[in-house]
Amino acid sequence: MSHNLFETFAARMHDRSDADFITTREGRRYSYRDALDASARLAGALKALGVAPGDRVAVQVDKSPEAILLYLACLRMGGVYLPLNTGYTADEIRYFLDDAEPALFVCRPAALTEARTVVSETGCPAVETLGTDADGSLLTLAERAEAYTGIEPREHDDLAAILYTSGTTGRSKGAMLTHRNLGSNAATLVEAWRFTAADRLIHALPIFHTHGLFVGCNVTLMAGSSMLFLPKFDADVIFEELPHGSVMMGVPTFYTRLVADERLTPEATANMRLFVSGSAPLTAETHQAFEAKTGHAILERYGMTETNMNISNPYDGERRAGTVGMPLPGVEYRITDRETHAPVPQGEIGMLEIRGPNVFIGYWRMPEKTREELLEDGFFITGDLAMADEQGYVHIVGRDKDLVISGGYNVYPKEVEQVIDELEGVVESAVIGLPHPDFGEGVTAVVVPQPGVTLGERQVLDHLEGRLAKYKQPKRVFFVDTLPRNTMGKVQKNELRKQYQDTYR
Ligand code: ATP
Ligand code: MG
Repeated sequence: MSHNLFETFAARMHDRSDADFITTREGRRYSYRDALDASARLAGALKALGVAPGDRVAVQVDKSPEAILLYLACLRMGGVYLPLNTGYTADEIRYFLDDAEPALFVCRPAALTEARTVVSETGCPAVETLGTDADGSLLTLAERAEAYTGIEPREHDDLAAILYTSGTTGRSKGAMLTHRNLGSNAATLVEAWRFTAADRLIHALPIFHTHGLFVGCNVTLMAGSSMLFLPKFDADVIFEELPHGSVMMGVPTFYTRLVADERLTPEATANMRLFVSGSAPLTAETHQAFEAKTGHAILERYGMTETNMNISNPYDGERRAGTVGMPLPGVEYRITDRETHAPVPQGEIGMLEIRGPNVFIGYWRMPEKTREELLEDGFFITGDLAMADEQGYVHIVGRDKDLVISGGYNVYPKEVEQVIDELEGVVESAVIGLPHPDFGEGVTAVVVPQPGVTLGERQVLDHLEGRLAKYKQPKRVFFVDTLPRNTMGKVQKNELRKQYQDTYR
């Protein structure tokens, strides 16, 4: 029996053939029947281009329904989908093509000349284009090619995708994700978040990342529900669409923007049944403000490129602000000592490790790194520090790499940031460790004041005095207009560390 994830999707797509799969505000509409047909034609085009089962198909295109049809085509013919961040430059693309050796690179129409150069340098045999207006050479080919209406047999552990991590802590790594990884997680999330065919997802996330691609689209396909595809988050558009949607998935910045908008009311969100947040920490403050303004408790969950989704607040029951909830069915976790790797007592902070059918099978062509992070007993070392409270809710305390060790003491940036953020006139803050001749690392705060508010270093330090132990208090405080964030709303602490690296030298 074949375990191609597309088998499961196709069964659902047949059942729901007349229903909407993806629609856009410009009036494009793909029913599930359309999606089945288009995926067969695109799979035919891939075959005509020489893509064979197991081959990678690298894709750097702007968000469109057709890009998802290409993902489906890839699954159907046994290819390995490899989406790339639209922000990557030609130089960065060269690295990924060199690393992944795809059989085909699909780029934006406007990037073709540049892509041809990169492709010829990396030895990638084919390049085609896909635009946002249902245009591009790949679609022309798909119209002419003989449709591939079959479904290539695949094993559980065959690759369905290679997804590169966000590169927050270093160079992006290619996570090898199997048909089982993606399928099990989508099925789990449909259950956990009570998706049904009646749902309509407001989809404003990018589709080169696990959140918008696998969580958003695989859950939709598994449930036979529909998605409204928006090119990006635009609050005006969101407020127009909320009355026609039932679920929204967002990164925390979506929610901070909505909360700051006076249009956010119980009436505006009356048709919605669920708001999900993830990819970066949602502050308890935003969670509470959103609930106060709408009556909806945002459901925060925790996941990553390598593991899909692991831990989620409950659908029924308390969605606890500032926590990511409890392990999803089938997912196990343990919290271990950073050095000894022994489990820590409940309530203590340690390294979060995850095991389950959702966990990837390794980093593409990085056996060393895979061995370091994917343990023999199947647990994956996430690199995140966490703590489980008495009721079993998991709190993500921050990344291990962001932990500051000052004078031999561990300083958890989040704890310091939370106290700084309580100060009147502060929007947000980031606490980092910088090389320090006496302390090893010096605790340093980068603070964003509210527009029009002038804050001084002294004020921040005075506020912390008595609220935090001396060793946790920053040695210097800097002020900036905004924190550097990537498209997923992740604060780029690496950049901050680079910018202020000479502070104590
Ligand atoms: P890289 O691994 O290349 O450094 P990255 O870890 O940012 O980049 P992703 O896989 O996109 O790449 O992100 C996963 C990380 O996002 C998690 O390890 C965690 O740090 C963070 N994250 C995801 N969801 C949450 C959440 N709800 N709360 C806090 N952090 C979260
Ligand atoms: Mg990571």
